[in-house]
Amino acid sequence: MNHTCSKCDSVWGGLNTAHCTACHHTFSGITAFDKHRSGSHVTGRFCLTPTEVGLVDSGRAYPCWGFPGGEKFWNEGDTFNEPAYDNRVI
Ligand SMILES: [Zn+2]
Ligand SMILES: [Zn+2]
Repeated sequence: MNHTCSKCDSVWGGLNTAHCTACHHTFSGITAFDKHRSGSHVTGRFCLTPTEVGLVDSGRAYPCWGFPGGEKFWNEGDTFNEPAYDNRVI
């Protein structure tokens, strides 16, 4: 099952995958997601760039940030269908 964002053209799969509605990066899980959020609830939360906090491309079929050497394997039941780009008129 694919997930999409209403504000950008990101597409992702997976039950634990997290998409940030502030900076529109996609993360392999809530732990990776939390890592790129900084600040406090008093002064305001903000996003850091994924590379800045040590996250790497998790090697999925779509842009997704995860921890180096981990979380490549999806949970059982997680699927992702390649978007049918072939039919797209460029
Ligand atoms: Zn963000
Ligand atoms: Zn988005």
